[in-house]
Amino acid sequence: MANIIVGLTGGIGSGKTTVANIFAELDIDLVDADIVAREVVAVGTEGLARIAEHFGDEILNPDASLNRAKLRERIFSEPENLKWLNALLHPIIRTEMCRQLDSTHSPYSILIAPLLFENGLDKLVSRTVLVDISPEQQRNRTVLRDSVPAHQVQSIIDSQASRKDKLSKADDIIDNNGDESALRSKVMALHNHYLTLS
Ligand code: ADP
Repeated sequence: MANIIVGLTGGIGSGKTTVANIFAELDIDLVDADIVAREVVAVGTEGLARIAEHFGDEILNPDASLNRAKLRERIFSEPENLKWLNALLHPIIRTEMCRQLDSTHSPYSILIAPLLFENGLDKLVSRTVLVDISPEQQRNRTVLRDSVPAHQVQSIIDSQASRKDKLSKADDIIDNNGDESALRSKVMALHNHYLTLS
């Protein structure tokens, strides 16, 4: 297991994936909370079996995988279902993230989590790094990447912790208002700093 686990976070479109790819090029092991959240409900998992038990087999696709659209429907129509699902999945996701972090080998490792602070995952890591950009850049880059209307992006931004809140909580900040080469230099500098800590 790596000595130090760094929690990497930032709002939608801030540049987390771009930053994570640079760390990956530097041979740093990454665990992605979004990927883990999908893995724990993959076909054949205990998580999916419990969901099918609770909602019935109609929550599954013909190939036995989770029908996410149906699950979303059931959650929207009944808030109790969301509570039940979170109670089931949050501990399983946490355990699986810890298992994957335990098997990393690089000098330090990174947990990528868009909702690191919102979901209390910062408690699992040694330090936190925020990818920060201005709200204007955030909207523009996300609209460009996802081809969705600006108001839709804004409602996602509004559902996440505020920029001010995240800035006050993060140990390290990567300013991603500049171009990609400026971003690369900042990530390299931080990488060298993390190496001195590990
Ligand atoms: P996140 O994973 O936080 O949602 P991404 O890494 O996908 O964000 O970045 C959002 C979009 O902005 C992507 O299309 C990415 O290529 C682009 N992007 C990221 N950083 C920069 C930058 N410094 N300059 C220009 N575009 C960028």
